[in-house]
Amino acid sequence: SVTCTAEDLVVALRAVSAAVVDHGDELTELDRAIGDADHGENMRRGFLAVAAKVDSPGQTTPAAVLKAVGTTLISTVGGASGPLYGTAFLRAATSLADVSEVDGVAVAAALRAALGGVVARGRAEVGDKTMVDALAPAADAAATAAEGGGDVPAVLAAAAEAAERGAESTKPLVARKGRASYLGERSAGHLDPGARSTALVLRALATAAGA
Ligand code: ADP
Ligand code: MG
Ligand code: MG
Repeated sequence: SVTCTAEDLVVALRAVSAAVVDHGDELTELDRAIGDADHGENMRRGFLAVAAKVDSPGQTTPAAVLKAVGTTLISTVGGASGPLYGTAFLRAATSLADVSEVDGVAVAAALRAALGGVVARGRAEVGDKTMVDALAPAADAAATAAEGGGDVPAVLAAAAEAAERGAESTKPLVARKGRASYLGERSAGHLDPGARSTALVLRALATAAGA
């Protein structure tokens, strides 16, 4: 549909969970090259817990669903990415307040808020070879799509497309944050795992929205 209810969001999160499980090995291989080979397992554990959590009734607004996602990710993922993803979802939840249906403008605002949370926690900038390199262009593209009158599928499609390009852009970069930064120049030539997982999550949300 063109807007998104709590129920739509739960369906979409099941799709995100499935996508993360499907791509777990890919994420782990990316993290093996420039990290400690656990990003796939961290994400798989977190999003399987998310899928189980949202299966229990009780979250009646999109914000309540996103809040449950954030707290679940913080308590299950661990590593650098757990608190960062968790904060992203918690900030997105706050930005949606208590509306029962989210439109394109609200999705764009939620992505902007999610980015703000990741930056507040991790202090990474665009170009540091982190998930920010996917999420920042996604938030920008979502804002442009929403300003142009885009509905939820259109805004999420724009975000996913920009995140995929942003994730690809991390390949030549030298990491300046997180575990990959320990490698210095040797981190160049590999995609950042967290940027790739961010693109995967946004693509799964877009596809679930019918984009
Ligand atoms: P860990 O590095 O603790 O093993 P993960 O492998 O799950 O955690 O996640 C690694 C990802 O976390 C990186 O690929 C990067 O995208 C992201 N990351 C690490 N540090 C930061 C940071 N300070 N800001 C934003 N993202 C970060
Ligand atoms: Mg790791
Ligand atoms: Mg680790």
